[in-house]
Amino acid sequence: MTTPRSLLDLPPLHAAATIDEWVRQAGLPRYRAEQLKPRLWKTPVGSWQEATELPQALRDRLDTELPLHRFETEVVQTSSDGTRKYLWKLPDGEKIESVLIPTATRRTLCISSQAGCALGCTFCATGLMGFRRNLHPWEIAGQVREVVLRNPDDMPTNIVFMGMGEPLLNWPAVDIALTILNSPEGFGIGARHITISTVGIVPGMLALAARPEQFRLAISLHSPHAEDRVGIMPIEKKYHLKDVIEAAGAFKKRITFEYVMIAGRNDRQKDLDGLIGLALRLGAHVNLLPLHPGGDPTLRPTSPADIRAFAAALREVGVEAVVRRSRGLDIDAACGQLHVKMARKERRVREEA
Ligand code: SF4
Repeated sequence: MTTPRSLLDLPPLHAAATIDEWVRQAGLPRYRAEQLKPRLWKTPVGSWQEATELPQALRDRLDTELPLHRFETEVVQTSSDGTRKYLWKLPDGEKIESVLIPTATRRTLCISSQAGCALGCTFCATGLMGFRRNLHPWEIAGQVREVVLRNPDDMPTNIVFMGMGEPLLNWPAVDIALTILNSPEGFGIGARHITISTVGIVPGMLALAARPEQFRLAISLHSPHAEDRVGIMPIEKKYHLKDVIEAAGAFKKRITFEYVMIAGRNDRQKDLDGLIGLALRLGAHVNLLPLHPGGDPTLRPTSPADIRAFAAALREVGVEAVVRRSRGLDIDAACGQLHVKMARKERRVREEA
């Protein structure tokens, strides 16, 4: 019998068909398949041993033939504002991060799509790590699974692909992970509550736009001027801002611009004017983000008062702009910060040993 690398790597309907076939070949009654399927995502178990509704012999066999892959929890930190940061260790030792951000009305989980990142945006701690590898579908959707296995009450209502990595450079895996997150046989999270954030990988944007669901798109803009943007985001050399904006124009779904505010680099009058022009053209919302520490140490954050004034100027001309609060500053909650800090600590410990 051929066994896929992991049932959790398959879109839920494919996994269900694999289970049907496995049950049939094992000579088991068909209702067993219906007992197994929800244990992948809907009411997950850490291993088949926890599926106590099944006979012991079947649980043992499933653990051998259709194992449910897990990753280890390396660190969990909870901030005074309730933000929770997870550093996970994958089976091959790579580490990735997720951040759970609870508010009064939602629980947003920020997930990673790659271990490390090749793109080297200057403000980002993950960029400093370089690229390690793409994540498999089960490792992307598995971040939700691990959070739920730790505590079912933490089931996220919203997902943002804003953790480590550029999701549209790992499209084949992200494509499947989106299906797992969204489909009723998976986690059943509404497409409008799932946001894919990209620096502007044009082929990936077109692939995402071709999906029928209303997934949200966020574009890491960070400057409306190509000549300034290239100094903040080297990817500008490959996918030019004008092509990214053109691809975004073809997107029939709501778009958000992410904009990390960096003093003297993207918070000037000419930046405001350029941003207004692009946002009005695409009907885009703007998220203004305070600069977190962890990236290029020469970058200085725009002051909170200047960020508020920038937002007010956007709103004045009809651009919907929100200033995102810095969440979890006491726990290194920005993408890559915890990993980079832990790696430094490990290096220090090794050096001192
Ligand atoms: S901001 Fe995103 S794309 Fe840029 S280096 Fe960091 S992880 Fe990579």
